[in-house]
Amino acid sequence: MLRISRISILLVLLFPVVIHAQNGEHETQSRDAPPISPAHDTEAPPIVPRDTAFGTGSGEEGARTPGRREDDPCGFSLRKPGDILLWGYGHDALIVDMQSWILHTMTSIDVIGNSVQGRPLYHMVFTNPASRIQKKRIWIHARTHPIESESSQVARAMINELLSGSELGNLLLDHAIVHVLPMLNPDGVELRYPRTNFNGVDLESNWGTALPEPEVLALREHLNMLMKSDTPIDIALNLHSAYDCKRFFIYHAAEGSSVLFTQLQQRFIGFVRDRFPGGIEPYDYFVSWTTGTPDRYPESWFWRNYREEVMALTYEDMNCAAAGDFERSARALLGGVADYLGFTGVLSTASLATPVEESLFAAVFPNPVSRDGRLTVRLRADLTARPLRISLHDRLGREVALLYEGVAAGGHTFVQPVSNLATGNYYLRAVTDRTTQTRPVLLLH
Ligand SMILES: [Zn+2]
Repeated sequence: MLRISRISILLVLLFPVVIHAQNGEHETQSRDAPPISPAHDTEAPPIVPRDTAFGTGSGEEGARTPGRREDDPCGFSLRKPGDILLWGYGHDALIVDMQSWILHTMTSIDVIGNSVQGRPLYHMVFTNPASRIQKKRIWIHARTHPIESESSQVARAMINELLSGSELGNLLLDHAIVHVLPMLNPDGVELRYPRTNFNGVDLESNWGTALPEPEVLALREHLNMLMKSDTPIDIALNLHSAYDCKRFFIYHAAEGSSVLFTQLQQRFIGFVRDRFPGGIEPYDYFVSWTTGTPDRYPESWFWRNYREEVMALTYEDMNCAAAGDFERSARALLGGVADYLGFTGVLSTASLATPVEESLFAAVFPNPVSRDGRLTVRLRADLTARPLRISLHDRLGREVALLYEGVAAGGHTFVQPVSNLATGNYYLRAVTDRTTQTRPVLLLH
């Protein structure tokens, strides 16, 4: 309970404008779904548009598989009992998860931009900094369409698998830099617009314009920056969910890409399917780009700018209550990544790096921390007394605050006001007679 109330307070601190808007004129507006009205409650529930109803970001209207059901009973209505749960995984849920993920030494979190309403676009990077292997770069983003909370669940399951200590997770942390932008459209999620951002724009088809919405612009600029780095993106996955009670990819035909690109896609999809026998549809279940290259989707953008350099695919998971085994989906996707990029389990240094259990820190919270708040650092309860120095540093390594210097034992808690610091990325540094440990900290307005 304490945790929830602290997060609520954090959200209030972070988003006063948003809360005002939710209570005001935007409250009853529905962007692209039928209005929610009591007068309609006795009618058959309408089906909220999902990807296969409108054509997904990577697809196009005419390319759907013939005979597809447009009103699949697996699709759900905004007005079903329990619809709040179905909308699930809001911005607060993400923050709770991030507070857990940031405790892992191989996680870093930052913000690549803001939504129209000023919500941060959180971005996480997972990799083993101790690994000396030449790494590959993986990009994953989710929740472009707010109603598709399954995409958040798949992203969440992928992160949990990466950090689980499993053989697969360690293999990826050793060999790859895995980026996850878990919520591209936080305004839409919080305001419960099924498919659009605050301005009523479907971000999935907003990639072809010179000046897109702020969410797309921020993402595009970040992707360009990564593509210019020494380690450009090898695989980009765009997570969605669809009517179909199936797991599948949006495959791009040679007519809109190239024969080589189709081979790359087929190879990747084949590896993912091998990791989940019977769980994922064949590559040609949903074929798009059959009449040329569209210009408005994320995969189109990757293709037009980087061609075969980036194997970019949209992945659609199922939304059926009877299924939704997101952990298996996540393991299949990550396993497919590892197989496609040729990672092998010969050398796993991730397992040798500092695991969470051996960290000096029991907790560093809240993280991200608001400038109105205080950063609290608690030592692990079972630490014996030892000389300790805990300091906070900016991204250039300059010490900006000294939290403690002396002899401390387990369970000690240190509290640091941060109101005098600029927003941005920092890291905590703890030095004892035996070890030096760091922990990323993000400071927000
Ligand atoms: Zn979608």
